[in-house]
Amino acid sequence: MNFEHSDKVKDLMAQVDAFMQEHIFPAEHALEEFVNDPANLWVVPPIVEELKQKAKAQGLWNLFLPEEYGEFSPGLTNLEYAPLAELMGRVEFASEIFNCSAPDTGNMEVLARYGSPEQQARWLKPLMEGEIRSAYLMTEPDTACSDATNVETSIVRDGDEYVINGRKWWSSSVYDPRCELLLVMGKTDPDAGRYVQQSTIIVPRDTPGVTVVRPLKVLNALHSPAGHGEVLLENVRVPVGNMILGEGRGFEIAQGRLGPGRVHHCMRLIGAAQRCLDLMCKRVDSRVAFGKKLSAQGSIRQEVAKSRCEIEQARLLTLSTADKLDKFGNKEAKDLIAMIKIVAPRMCQEVADRAMQAHGSKGLCQDTPLANLYSYARFVRLADGPDEVHMAQLGKNTILAAVESDAR
Ligand SMILES: Cc1cc2nc3c(=O)[nH]c(=O)nc-3n(C[C@H](O)[C@H](O)[C@H](O)COP(=O)(O)OP(=O)(O)OC[C@H]3O[C@@H](n4cnc5c(N)ncnc54)[C@H](O)[C@@H]3O)c2cc1C
Repeated sequence: MNFEHSDKVKDLMAQVDAFMQEHIFPAEHALEEFVNDPANLWVVPPIVEELKQKAKAQGLWNLFLPEEYGEFSPGLTNLEYAPLAELMGRVEFASEIFNCSAPDTGNMEVLARYGSPEQQARWLKPLMEGEIRSAYLMTEPDTACSDATNVETSIVRDGDEYVINGRKWWSSSVYDPRCELLLVMGKTDPDAGRYVQQSTIIVPRDTPGVTVVRPLKVLNALHSPAGHGEVLLENVRVPVGNMILGEGRGFEIAQGRLGPGRVHHCMRLIGAAQRCLDLMCKRVDSRVAFGKKLSAQGSIRQEVAKSRCEIEQARLLTLSTADKLDKFGNKEAKDLIAMIKIVAPRMCQEVADRAMQAHGSKGLCQDTPLANLYSYARFVRLADGPDEVHMAQLGKNTILAAVESDAR
């Protein structure tokens, strides 16, 4: 395997990095202060829209989408996108500036891959333009949703409409004032086979019967302006044309959506971990305790060395996964996707934790990005499938493959 980046990718990496140096790193602290000011709850920081326009004008836009969409997307492969997402992952809000942030990316992929021409014109286009945002409503409070077949929300056909009832939670971005689209997963036929009971349907955010009940905090942070909401769906009526792909295809859509999405999180987490390590190195080289620099302590050097090894291991596994996804698709790459989804969030969490420790108490407060990056790694250990679910699947596949092979 040769993971040497092409000239095209090197050029894009230089452009994304320059953009981040010029516009994003300098804005990071002020933006953090803005979103954590209670007076600005659910308000989009003006600089976000300003920077989005700049990135779009430079063509640094929708880089995640493998298909070409004219002026809206250059059509990079996952392997080409990986180092760009890594660069963005260094700052929590950066991927949104390039229109590459979850959950919109996954929702755009669903609409691009499975949407009808009418659905694409109405919803994909404004998402790709960065004019609106969207949420994906799969998880429910009353069922174990690490098993997506458990969803209980009902989607019942009534003439030319579907009627939706249920309660969702952890609907990311649902508080964002730009969020206009909900993709809702529910059951159209609870008596069908296990994987064909579910469907995914488009619900405009302002449809009567949609109530956002309360925001959920991640390690005590609201993640304004996007937020994560608990959402009640009561007799929500939408036209039959809002069904994506057809009844019974919801599980298939969820699998298709989550494959690349999981890897995108991992790409960003490599960048997040690298930033934590870089900050740690700078800090330990500038602090003196007990008569010598912290960077001269053997235990600190070990923490730095371990972190560097783990980041590079995860980086190579991410590239390998992206490569397989490009060449053979989601299904063939499933074991690698599980591997990197197990490895990258935990790796980043540990590197961030070491960096926090080396910073002393400064590492836990708002004066560094470490707490945010730690929190990101921690929640990705649950979002898009908890560690244990990926381990259960990977373990099963590994045992089966060994049993079926003639290996001695
Ligand atoms: C910040 C954040 C953002 C999110 N955004 C979204 C979103 O936009 N849309 C959305 O629909 N959901 C979202 N989620 C929800 C997330 O995808 C679910 O929380 C996750 O899939 C787990 O489902 P659950 O919470 O119901 O856990 P449960 O299914 O109740 O599982 C609980 C725990 O049981 C253990 N477990 C489960 N299965 C196994 C197994 N086979 N073997 C061993 N142990 C096991 C795991 O430790 C797991 O964490 C988000 C979550 C977070 C934290």
